[in-house]
Amino acid sequence: MDYINKFTSFVREQYCSEDFIPLHEPRFRGNEKAYLLDTIDSTFVSSVGAYVDDFECKMESYTGATKAVAVVNGTAALQVALRLVGVSKGDEVITQALSFIATANAISYNNAIPVFLDVDLDTMGLSPDAVRKFLESYAELRDDGCYNKSTGNRISACVPMHTFGFPVHLDELITICNKWKIPVVEDAAESLGSYYKGRHTGTIGQAGCFSFNGNKTITCGGGGALVTNDLNLGTKAKYLTTTAKRPHPYEFFHDELGYNYRMPNLNAALACAQMEMLESFLADKRQLATEYIDFFKSIDVTFRTELNDTKANYWLMCIEMNDRQERDYFLKETNEKGIMTRPIWTLTYKLPMYQHCYRDEQVNAEFLEQRIVNIPSSVR
Ligand SMILES: *Cc1c(COP(=O)(O)O)cnc(C)c1O
Repeated sequence: MDYINKFTSFVREQYCSEDFIPLHEPRFRGNEKAYLLDTIDSTFVSSVGAYVDDFECKMESYTGATKAVAVVNGTAALQVALRLVGVSKGDEVITQALSFIATANAISYNNAIPVFLDVDLDTMGLSPDAVRKFLESYAELRDDGCYNKSTGNRISACVPMHTFGFPVHLDELITICNKWKIPVVEDAAESLGSYYKGRHTGTIGQAGCFSFNGNKTITCGGGGALVTNDLNLGTKAKYLTTTAKRPHPYEFFHDELGYNYRMPNLNAALACAQMEMLESFLADKRQLATEYIDFFKSIDVTFRTELNDTKANYWLMCIEMNDRQERDYFLKETNEKGIMTRPIWTLTYKLPMYQHCYRDEQVNAEFLEQRIVNIPSSVR
C-alpha cells in the first residue's frame, strides 16, 4: 500500500489544492447566477415558469426522449414512473441490492415489494442472467401479466440502475423482460451523459429517471426528471406530478390522487444553466479518467473503465481493491490525509427495512461491496 502517498499527491495536483478534496463538488461557472436573478426579478420562483418548460425541452433534445418531465428529485421521478408502468400494492419489482437506497424506496412508496437480484461484475448493474434465472424458476405468465408462482404476487416492473454512470447490459435485460411482459424503468439517476450502443441511458426502457441532486453530474440543488418515448406515459407523468388538476383558468378539480412533485422554477433556472455546461463537464471528467488510468497502470488496483458499446459519463470514478482489508486501509489513510474516498453502498437487503425481502445468492454484489471505492471525481 505504498502507493497511498503517491495517490494523495496525484489527486492534489489534479485539483491544484492543498485543502480537503471532496468526492464530487458542484461547479457554477456559467449562467447560474444570471438565471437565478432573472427568476427572482420575474417573481416566478415557484411552480409556474418558463425555465421549467425550457429545462424539459433541453432534457428531451439532449437525451433524445420524446417527453421529459421535471420533478422535485430523482426518487419522486422513480416513484411516479413505477406507478405509471402499472406497479400497484402488493406487487413485486425486480431490482439490484447494490444501489443507493432511493431505488428500493421508490418501489416501497408504491406499496410494492423489491426483489433483489445480483449484479454483473463488469457493469456493477442488474445482471440479465440473474433475472433470467429468477424468472425461469419462479415466474408464470397469466392473462394480466407475470406472476411469482411461489408468492402469488404480480411481478410488475424491473428497475436496473446504471451504477456510477456505467450502463447495464440493457439489450439482454430488455429481451428477457419483454419475454415475461415486465416493463423496465431505468434508474438513470447517475448516468446523465452515458450511452448504451449509441442511445442515451434512461431512454431505452419504458421510462428513465434522472437526479440533479448536489453531488450528481449536474445539479439544481435538488431535482429530477422522468423521460420516456411513450407520449401517453409522459403526459400522464406531467399530470400526476402537478396534482392531477384538470386544466381550467380558475376552478379546482382534481380527478386522481396526484402529487405536488413539480420542479420549482428557481431550481429549473439553475438546471438550465447547468445543462449548458454539461458537455464541458463530461469532457473534463473523461480527461480526468484518462489521467487516473495512467496513474493506476503501475499499481495493483483496478481503475474501472467503460465497456465496449457503451460510453460512460465517469460521474463517480471508482477503483476495485484486492480485498476488504486493503479497502479499509485505503479508506482510512486517504480520508485522514484529506482526500475524500468512500466505499460503495451497503447492500440494500442488509438494511432493517429490507432484510425480509427475497434475494438471490448475490455473489457478485457481495464481492463488489467489499472492494469498490469511489475516488475524487469533481470537474477540475
Ligand atoms: C441520486 C440517486 C437517486 C435519486 O436521488 P434524489 O436525491 O432523490 O434526486 C436515485 N437512484 C440512485 C441510484 C441515485 O444515485
